[in-house]
Amino acid sequence: MESLRIHEVYQSVQGESTLAGMPCTFIRLAGCPLRCVYCDTPQAIPLDSGETQTFSTIFTSLSEPKTPLVLVTGGEPLAQKNCISLLEGLLSMYQHVQLETAGAYDISKVPTQVSIILDIKTPGSGEVGRNRWQNMQYLRNNTEIKFVLTSREDYVWATGILQQYDLASQCTVLMSCTWGSLEPQDLVEWIMQDNLPVRIQLQLHKYIWDAEKTGV
Ligand code: SF4
Repeated sequence: MESLRIHEVYQSVQGESTLAGMPCTFIRLAGCPLRCVYCDTPQAIPLDSGETQTFSTIFTSLSEPKTPLVLVTGGEPLAQKNCISLLEGLLSMYQHVQLETAGAYDISKVPTQVSIILDIKTPGSGEVGRNRWQNMQYLRNNTEIKFVLTSREDYVWATGILQQYDLASQCTVLMSCTWGSLEPQDLVEWIMQDNLPVRIQLQLHKYIWDAEKTGV
């Protein structure tokens, strides 16, 4: 029987992406092989931080969706191969299905109706070597590329990637600041100076709740 390691499931508002502010069910899968320096969900990194749930249990608990949107996140959701089957099942239940991934795994099998939020790791994350650049051939118009920037150096690097892969012509590109490392005002200034075709993204949850609060 198919199963997944689930860290937590809860309802809140989506704090990021172009659907920020929309009521959302979060399905946080357990386990991540990356170690980003700014990780704000370190509690979900160990695989044993979750409990094994069968698909029958998962889908029964979600059978009456409380929100129009569901986000599958982690950890790194694609590190569990059954994530794809989960996404397929969610598509028949929710109006919008999003997947947040670090892009270290193959995204080609993700159903096309799922909006992928692909978090490209910058040098400042400490995990730039984990970017799977082959994924760039699978971008779709419902994909959202996200750069989490720690510094001016990260910003310059990200603008280079933006141009190299012509990202803005293929999908939405979001740039956000690592909390406490980069000021949003500086990022806005740089984006305006360079006339970059991107959207700045603030992590809504950190403004609504305490920056360290989890599960909200
Ligand atoms: S990929 Fe995400 S969950 Fe994994 S270490 Fe990086 S920020 Fe944390």
